[in-house]
Amino acid sequence: MIPMLDLKLQYSTLKNEIDTAVADVLQNTHFIMGPNVVQFESEAAQYLGVKHAISCNSGTDALHLALRACGIGENDEVITTPFSFAATAEAICYVGATPVFVDIDPETYNIYTQAIKAAITSKTKAILPVHIFGQAADMQEIAKLAKDNNLRIIEDCAQSFGARINNQQTGTLGDAGCFSFFPSKNLGCYGDGGLFTTNSDEIAEQFTLLKSHGSKVRNQHEIIGWNSRLDELQAAILRIKLKHIDDFNKNRIAVAKKYNKLLSSPSINTPSFKENMSHVFHQYTLLSENRDAISEQLNKEKIGHAVYYPMPLSEQPAFNPISRAESLNTTQDICSKCISLPIFPEMTDEQIEKVVDTVKRV
Ligand SMILES: *Cc1c(COP(=O)(O)O)cnc(C)c1O
Repeated sequence: MIPMLDLKLQYSTLKNEIDTAVADVLQNTHFIMGPNVVQFESEAAQYLGVKHAISCNSGTDALHLALRACGIGENDEVITTPFSFAATAEAICYVGATPVFVDIDPETYNIYTQAIKAAITSKTKAILPVHIFGQAADMQEIAKLAKDNNLRIIEDCAQSFGARINNQQTGTLGDAGCFSFFPSKNLGCYGDGGLFTTNSDEIAEQFTLLKSHGSKVRNQHEIIGWNSRLDELQAAILRIKLKHIDDFNKNRIAVAKKYNKLLSSPSINTPSFKENMSHVFHQYTLLSENRDAISEQLNKEKIGHAVYYPMPLSEQPAFNPISRAESLNTTQDICSKCISLPIFPEMTDEQIEKVVDTVKRV
C-alpha cells in the first residue's frame, strides 16, 4: 500500500514542535487574531518577498475576496483556465462576474497566453492564472498582456507555495496572490486556511476590511464584510511548517525527477520543467492513452492516485450555463489522459520504484 501523500509520517517527524505549539495556544486561549497569526503573516510576507501577506479562512476565500478587493464585479469578465479545481471559477461567480475559460499549454497544463489574448473583450477586467500542480504559469507574458489591456492579475497559488520564476515567488507577480493551506497542499495546516498577498497598499486595505466584517477599528464598520480569519491553532502549525517548506519542496522535486527518469517511455508523457521556473510538484501528473488501465492496476496494488482533472470546468453543470468557453482542444485531450501519482516529501526510493513498476506493467 502506498498513499497519495503521508501526513501521518510528516506529523511524526514534527510531533514535538507541533504538540508544544498547540499546547501553548490552548494555554494562552487567544484563539482569534492571536500572536501566532500576526507572526505567521509577517514570516510569510518575508519568505515570499511581498509587502502584504494577509491570512484568511481558505484559499477559496482568498480568491473571492481578492477579486472583490480588486474591484471585479457584475458584468465583468475574468479570463481563467478550465483545468483547475472548482474554487477558481466559483470565486469569479461569487462576485457576479463571468468566467471565460481559455485553452491551456500542452507542456505545462497552464493557461495559454495566446488564448488569453484572443478572448479579451471590452468587458474583460482580470486574468486569473492558476499555477497548476505547482508550476508557475507564464507570468511574464501574462503581465505584458495585462498591462497592454489594463487588466488586473489575480494569481491562484493554491498549489504553488514556494514556486519561483527567476527567483520571484508566485503570488508576487500580479496584483494579488491567493494561497490555500488545505492539509494536502505543499504548505498545509490541520484544517482550513488561506493567505492573500499583494504589493499594493490600497488592495491590502480593502482585503483586510473584507475578511473581517468591514472593520479595522472595533465597533466601526466601513463596508459589508465577511468572517474569514485564519485561526491561531492553524497559524501556530503553519509557522512550524513554513520553516521546512523549502526542504519539503526540494524533496518533492527529487521524487519527480526520479519518476521522470524511470517512467520515460514513448507511451507516457512525463511532466516537463521549464527553464528558470521552479516546479514544486504539488502533483506529479503524467499523460497516457492508457490512463484508465493504469488506474485499474494501481487500484489492484493499493497505490493511491487521482485524476486531476477529468473534465474542463466549463463542462461542469455549475459553470456551464454561466460561463463562456473558447475552443478547448488541448484541455479536452489532457483531461482524457491525465493521472496523478503519489508524491510527498518523505517518499522513499522503494515506494517510487513500486509505483513505476506498477505503471510500467500496463
Ligand atoms: C485547493 C485549491 C483551491 C481552494 O483552496 P481551499 O483552501 O480548499 O479553499 C483553489 N484553487 C486551487 C487550484 C486549488 O487547488
